Amino acid sequence: MPLKLGLIGYPISHSLSPWIHDQFMEKLGMDGEYVLYEITKSELETTINQFKEKGMDGFNVTVPYKEAIIPFLDSLHPDAEKIGAVNTVVMENGKLKGYNTDGQGYVRSIKQSFPDLVESSKRVLLLGAGGAARGIYRALTNESFKEIDIANRTTEKAKSLLEVNQTGIETKILSFDQAEDTLANYDLIIQTTSVGMKPYINDQIISLENLRAGTVASDIIYQPIATTFLNNAEKQQGRIHLGHSMLLYQAQLAFQIWTGKQVPLDTTLLKLEQRLRGI
Ligand code: NAP
Repeated sequence: MPLKLGLIGYPISHSLSPWIHDQFMEKLGMDGEYVLYEITKSELETTINQFKEKGMDGFNVTVPYKEAIIPFLDSLHPDAEKIGAVNTVVMENGKLKGYNTDGQGYVRSIKQSFPDLVESSKRVLLLGAGGAARGIYRALTNESFKEIDIANRTTEKAKSLLEVNQTGIETKILSFDQAEDTLANYDLIIQTTSVGMKPYINDQIISLENLRAGTVASDIIYQPIATTFLNNAEKQQGRIHLGHSMLLYQAQLAFQIWTGKQVPLDTTLLKLEQRLRGI
């Protein structure tokens, strides 16, 4: 049976997900479609009922419905329940189960690019405390790091991330000024705010003046693919991790939830990078 997949969100006409999942189906020799459903909030319930009638295998959910979708689901994976947001839904025997693949996708991507980084002597700094940061922080706390600190504009939001700490790993809440002053302490710095995203491509969340050479600077923004944050990290001899890899790994995990198959990402990662660079 051809796969029936899709994405709910608004606005989504420029989404890369149809391209990514078409690549996955082609790679595995699977037949199917991945359709965009750009809907308003009032259309959410009818759309989900139509999905059930249509016998969809699964779908992704993006902004602004990652939380609003939850009341329409039959069950949640513990990660999605704790994070309070769903980006992937699978249909099993007419029942809908919600997952959140952002955090696990991020961890898969960083382990693939920098396997030496995930170990108990390393310190991580997370910049931002929004929806994506919440999933990433939860997934990171399950890995063996020494410390994962959080800096965010709104301190209360940074503190609320502590609710999803799975292991009690040490976390300090910092201001951006404190983060700038202590930057040399960290082995991995993850930029998860929307600062620097197209069209505001010259903006940068903090100064990287104190970045230690060899530190990994990671930005989850993928439009532009090389943000000002990453360009400046490179000038300071930092190693960089591009945002498109999280996008691809979270999609790989969603596809695995729907089909039980793990797609190899070898050529797709480079193809996605070239697409985003307009090559
Ligand atoms: P969100 O929930 O709206 O969170 C936004 C974050 O950015 C918050 O920490 C917010 O701080 C901060 N922020 C926004 N404007 C700011 C400013 N002017 N100064 C300082 N901080 C500011 O958004 P999200 O869903 O987490 O997404 C964040 C970014 O990640 C977006 O660019 C999105 O495209 C990207 N993303 C990428 C992937 C991927 O697969 N690569 C996946 C998901 C998201 P406050 O808490 O103080 O408001």
